Amino acid sequence: MKSKTILVTGGAGFIGSHLCKRLLEGGNNVICLDNLFTGSLSNIKNLETNQNFEFVNHDIIKPYYRNNIDEIYNLACPASPVHYKMNPIKTIKTCTIGTINVLGLAKKNNAKILQASTSEVYGDPLIHPQDENYYGNVNITGPRSCYDEGKRCSETLFMDYHREHNLRIKIVRIFNTYGPNMSSNDGRVVSNFIIQALNNRDISIYGNGKQTRSFQYIDDLVQGLLKVMNTEKNFTGPINIGNPTEISVNNLASLILKLTNSSSKIIYQNLPKDDPKKRKPDISKANKLLAWNPKFDLENGLLKTISYFKEVNEIY
Ligand code: NAD
Ligand code: UDP
Repeated sequence: MKSKTILVTGGAGFIGSHLCKRLLEGGNNVICLDNLFTGSLSNIKNLETNQNFEFVNHDIIKPYYRNNIDEIYNLACPASPVHYKMNPIKTIKTCTIGTINVLGLAKKNNAKILQASTSEVYGDPLIHPQDENYYGNVNITGPRSCYDEGKRCSETLFMDYHREHNLRIKIVRIFNTYGPNMSSNDGRVVSNFIIQALNNRDISIYGNGKQTRSFQYIDDLVQGLLKVMNTEKNFTGPINIGNPTEISVNNLASLILKLTNSSSKIIYQNLPKDDPKKRKPDISKANKLLAWNPKFDLENGLLKTISYFKEVNEIY
């Protein structure tokens, strides 16, 4: 089979770096485009020796011109609440102007394009678990809105390019994902708790810790992204990709304390505004249409992630 040229925007980030690695292993030429806002060259340092890999330092808010691209994975966007709230206008620009630029590139190349959307499009959901038909419960003007509404607008743009220009698009709604290469300072719950536990520092639970999330290990997500990209032409999504095992933040803290054998104590801090109370994907569509199911349970995935942070743990 002819090798493809695949562009991954946000390729130096957590998910992007794993995806680039898998695409290279599949014999493809990979262009990793990133402005290094939240990503890091250390995530891709092992890939840069591969002659089929190219890193391009570029911000998708500016147009990018290139020919002969077969597929695009659009991952560029700060993903953790701490990072996307840091510069909310830039976050919206990335989700709107940036997405238009990447869609334009796909159109010029007649490339297939996949959007890394998010469970945040469901907001603080009023139905549980969340399936793809749910329109969500999103605050339009709150501090999370730059990301939630930005990502909702990206989905709209994808569908409009599909309807107007017959572009081959795929929309994946990714639920909370964790694993090696997560940035140590992005404030997400799994990385925060592991780093705190490894350093015997207090575990910071926001609110009463009864809020829930459903965490998927990175390898399951990458497998899901590849499967979605390879669906037939008329498959656009949106489709949920996530692990439906739901856990409260309190129980996650206890599990990480046990797995790290840590003596950290738990402290309770303010809950950020609009923090969703519960989240769990309905993955029956992915199961039926892609024969996709997560393979990693939380404990195994956490053990791999703890090993990673032990390796890179220079006392944060
Ligand atoms: P990440 O922050 O590690 O990666 C995002 C990457 O995009 C970074 O390398 C960053 O430098 C780059 N980037 C940001 N703005 C850019 C811009 N304007 N131009 C070029 N590059 C830019 O986050 P991640 O967890 O790897 O998330 C990747 C994608 O998946 C994001 O679009 C995110 O919204 C989506 N997603 C992630 C999760 C999750 O749990 N990790 C859940 C749902 C959706
Ligand atoms: N959280 C927490 N302590 C932390 C970081 C996060 O209790 O140090 C909580 C946060 O309030 C949320 C959940 O953990 O309820 C997941 O947060 P994260 O930022 O990882 O993802 P998201 O809110 O985007 O799902």
